[in-house]
Amino acid sequence: MRPAHELLTRSANLRPVDVVDELLANNARFADGLPVRHVDVRPRRRLAVVTCMDSRLDVFAALGLGDGEAHIMRNAGGVITDDMIRSLAISQRRLGTREVMLIQHTDCGMQTITDDGFRAELQDATGVAPAFAIESFTDVDANVRQSILRVRRSDFLLHREAVRGFVYDVDTHRLREVAAPIT
Ligand code: ZN
Repeated sequence: MRPAHELLTRSANLRPVDVVDELLANNARFADGLPVRHVDVRPRRRLAVVTCMDSRLDVFAALGLGDGEAHIMRNAGGVITDDMIRSLAISQRRLGTREVMLIQHTDCGMQTITDDGFRAELQDATGVAPAFAIESFTDVDANVRQSILRVRRSDFLLHREAVRGFVYDVDTHRLREVAAPIT
């Protein structure tokens, strides 16, 4: 597989700076079409959604959410990591959220790598092994259940029981709940 930067330079008109310039123009039009208004920093539905950075998952559209309704936290895989716990702790303790909705998905990029392989790639490229866990996975249901358990077991969170996990099918756009009985 070619490195990403090589792919970018090989594709016409896809230099990153061009993309950002286009988005800035989009933003100017977006702002022009909206009234100036202030929405409360605390999410109205008292909900935090943790999901993957995948480009095919439009969280607001898929869940029917609007501005000001929920926190949306994303990383590679939609995995509960220490940094997600940091965000959830702030979300619950300072900004009033009480429920967590975890959404991982089919055809995730994290299923295409292994922890050992990607760790070795980073170490070979830089001479330094990363301190963070890679968090690759093969079984998405098992991975959702693991993230649910990490929420339930984190003492940093105030609301640990109101957590539900789902798999989003990127082809059908439907959510399927993953059962995670309390043991
Ligand atoms: Zn993903």
